[in-house]
Amino acid sequence: MFHPADLLNPHLAGLEEYTPIQPFEVLSQRLGIPPQQIVKLDANENPYGPLPQVVEALADYPHYHIYPDPQQTALRESLAEDLGVAPEQVLAGHGADELLDLLCRLFLRPKDRVVTCPPTFGMYRFDARLQGAQAVEVWRLPDYHVDVAGVEELFARARARQRPKLLFLTSPNNPTGTWLPDTHLRRLLALPVMVVLDEAYVEFADYPSRASWVAEHENLCVLRTFSKAAGLAGLRLGYGVFPAWLMPHLWKFKQPYNVNVAAMVAGLVSLQHPERLRERVRWITRERQRLFTHLLSVPYLKPVPSQANFILCRVVGRDARALKEALEQMGILVRHYDKPGLDNCIRISVGRPEHTDRLLEALHSLVGTA
Ligand SMILES: *Cc1c(COP(=O)(O)O)cnc(C)c1O
Repeated sequence: MFHPADLLNPHLAGLEEYTPIQPFEVLSQRLGIPPQQIVKLDANENPYGPLPQVVEALADYPHYHIYPDPQQTALRESLAEDLGVAPEQVLAGHGADELLDLLCRLFLRPKDRVVTCPPTFGMYRFDARLQGAQAVEVWRLPDYHVDVAGVEELFARARARQRPKLLFLTSPNNPTGTWLPDTHLRRLLALPVMVVLDEAYVEFADYPSRASWVAEHENLCVLRTFSKAAGLAGLRLGYGVFPAWLMPHLWKFKQPYNVNVAAMVAGLVSLQHPERLRERVRWITRERQRLFTHLLSVPYLKPVPSQANFILCRVVGRDARALKEALEQMGILVRHYDKPGLDNCIRISVGRPEHTDRLLEALHSLVGTA
């Protein structure tokens, strides 16, 4: 008997569904707390939102009925200038997430392998598996640095045909906030693999971006985003710096209108005010320092030092999920983890000072309740 479900692509049909997060408005209704009173520290969003100049430019833009520039010319030129790289090596996407997916589609076919270094961002594994590829996991060391020797060993052992094609690195890493030092990156770049360095949080780090390294390394891509530091997560705008040889292939794959006009306007105007953006980043990194110091005084939390706009905390002597739920009842949202390497952990995004105050008050009110 014919059933159209038999026609499904078998490697996609076998995938588990991605666990979606609850939309903010739905959660607000469920908790009976108005959205403006919710302290949202669960998704590393920028608590200051876009620059006011961006909001103004979006309201005034007259050409939303015209298709976007498929070449992204103005945006790529502006990005290239900001990054100190050639515009020919820059490509923008519907979030950095789209560029991850493009890379996976370009390099991977079923049964291919990629390397991820968990605990880390889940999209690498997700996108690789969409191509029927398999993620080989090289776990981070107890201090959350990449196990560079472990990755090297994996390549030394693998026969050429089974060698992983892509190595996903994240610096600062999500959710640990760990920086990948230059010496580690150099060793990993010496391996016969395409290195995808995800710098979604690099603006918050004490160290510079490695976007300029792409000029010297044929096997390096660096991905960046407007979602975190520039406060445009909802508009979806990411970009990458790619080696020259890879660009023609990316252009063949990219959907012509992948970046919408509003995102382009918002990105361009953001880039016109780098000092304003840096100022907001400073507000956040200063607040990260204050939050970290105060988290140290919460008896049941062990915060991990972070180079990003969030702090991972090990929860000690009580259940992290119950803690997350107790905070939620008070209108404070944090991310909870219960997976290998992140047992009984929460991740707190850095908010505004008043958000930190509300969070700390709530955390202290919960001392002795579990
Ligand atoms: C948030 C995040 C991204 C996603 O960026 P978008 O541009 O919003 O798609 C990429 N990588 C990491 C590690 C992130 O945490």
